[in-house]
Amino acid sequence: MNEGQLFLLGLAAFFGLVIGLLALRKNRSFWLWGLFGAITFLIAGIALACVGFLCPNCQQPLTNRQWKDRQCPNCGNLRHLWLRLKK
Ligand SMILES: [Zn+2]
Repeated sequence: MNEGQLFLLGLAAFFGLVIGLLALRKNRSFWLWGLFGAITFLIAGIALACVGFLCPNCQQPLTNRQWKDRQCPNCGNLRHLWLRLKK
C-alpha cells in the first residue's frame, strides 16, 4: 500500500467517523451512515443534512420543530427519555 492509498483510507475513516457522529445526533444508525460517509464522502453529508430527526423511542421521523420541542406525534413528550439519555 503506497502513501496515496493510505491517505485515501485515512480520509474515508475520517469522513465515516464525522458522518457517523452527525447521524447519531439525529438518532440514526452510526454504522450505516458511517459506512455511507466513508464511501461517498460529501454525498452522505448532503443526504444527512436533508433527512430529519428520528424519534429515539419509536424511530418515527420527526420535523425539526417536533424534535426541538421534544414532541413525538406517536409517543408524546420525549423530555423524560431525553433527560434519561443525558445522565
Ligand atoms: Zn416516538
